[in-house]
Amino acid sequence: MKTNRYLQTGEKSLCCGCMACSRTCPFGAIEMRRDEKGFSYPVLDLEKCKDCGMCQKVCPMEENYVGQDAEPDTYAVCNSSEEVVRKSSSGGMFSLLAEWVISQGGIIYGVEFDKEFGVRHGRATTMEEAARFRTSKYVESDISQVYTSLIQDLEEGKIVLLTGTPCQISGVTKHLRLKKVGTEKLYTCDNICHGVPSSKIWRDYLSIIKSAYIKPGDKILQINMRSKKNSWQERMLDIELENGDIGQEIKQFSFNQFFSSMYGQRNSCFYCRYTSYKRPSDFTIGDFWNLENAGISFDTTKGVNALLVNTDKGRELFEKLRTHAKVQPVSKKACWQAHLEYSSKQPAKQEQFWKEYSETENKEEILKRYMKGSLTTRIIRKLSPVLQKTGLYGLAGKLYKVVFVGKKNE
Ligand SMILES: Cc1cc2nc3c(=O)[nH]c(=O)nc-3n(C[C@H](O)[C@H](O)[C@H](O)COP(=O)(O)OP(=O)(O)OC[C@H]3O[C@@H](n4cnc5c(N)ncnc54)[C@H](O)[C@@H]3O)c2cc1C
Repeated sequence: MKTNRYLQTGEKSLCCGCMACSRTCPFGAIEMRRDEKGFSYPVLDLEKCKDCGMCQKVCPMEENYVGQDAEPDTYAVCNSSEEVVRKSSSGGMFSLLAEWVISQGGIIYGVEFDKEFGVRHGRATTMEEAARFRTSKYVESDISQVYTSLIQDLEEGKIVLLTGTPCQISGVTKHLRLKKVGTEKLYTCDNICHGVPSSKIWRDYLSIIKSAYIKPGDKILQINMRSKKNSWQERMLDIELENGDIGQEIKQFSFNQFFSSMYGQRNSCFYCRYTSYKRPSDFTIGDFWNLENAGISFDTTKGVNALLVNTDKGRELFEKLRTHAKVQPVSKKACWQAHLEYSSKQPAKQEQFWKEYSETENKEEILKRYMKGSLTTRIIRKLSPVLQKTGLYGLAGKLYKVVFVGKKNE
């Protein structure tokens, strides 16, 4: 069979859920279905399959960037607008790109909350709409709506900015190549990525929040998983209601803690093919945590991006935009982030978590217990701020790799 390795084996570490195979199959033989954990996987209809091999060619998990070095231009970046920085996860680099694309009459694809606060990719034609994509949503986004309209936009000659996780960007751009869609006007921007948690757990979490933390009659207006209300470093989950907000009340029961505990993460994230300086996008953006080593001359306390400019096309655009931001070239070493080198480590008890979670009625109790994280996660949470302050963040991360990660996804 010439199908991709996931379709041949059913091995979940081999599918990142980007949907590219199901969108590319010329015979409509691949359908995406959610499993019991809330992650979608392709299902092959053998009667329709003609073994053409397109699903293998398009699959981003058939690539492996890990261990392949590259020399992107590396910067610390902070948007010139204080308001934009306040409303963004880090330094507002996404908005810098989005504003230029919108000013050219272009289109932005990014990740937003829907009306029920599910997480999905959306399309924006104005900056007001694109503002919904600001701030990281620490949940797997449903990218199904992007494929068709993105092709239409590009075929109409529009400038487009596509954002998402590196595996999503890789899946979509490989799809465009196979469909022979011109990408001269497409700019891509991926995130440095820790991995994506299950949308099912996010939905369950919101139901618990609604029943246990919100008074009857009150309503969620907005959710910010990267609120800077207290500080940038805190990465606070804030939920704004019609009557007040409950950021402080849910501090001990924050989905963000569950995100960093890794128990709800998609299996393929532990075997990520994109944890390297070689990237599938023109730009890569992340948080700049390694501040002590970088000697940055502007104020970084409200948030600053680590930016990798990976392609000549990206370089040309960044030259036009950099005057609208505080920009400092930094070394690749200063820009270092764990997930530019290795994937998150799967918690030893992840399967036990899922078993307990699916069997219990009391999901709040299980989430509270597991969001504390494994002993290693708890140590990392405590040490990270100290390591960032002392400039030992990169060194500690490399040591962690030697002890815990090894070469598993190279
Ligand atoms: C799941 C996830 C894991 C991350 N892990 C890391 C990490 O380990 N290290 C690190 O330095 N940075 C990580 N980031 C990136 C970081 O949180 C910021 O998104 C990034 O620094 C951009 O900041 P900004 O101020 O420029 O963007 P903002 O203005 O906040 O824009 C957010 C950008 O992220 C995109 N986005 C939001 N939610 C999702 C999602 N669920 N899936 C895909 N794209 C999304 C939006 O479309 C937009 O492009 C992660 C982001 C996500 C979504």
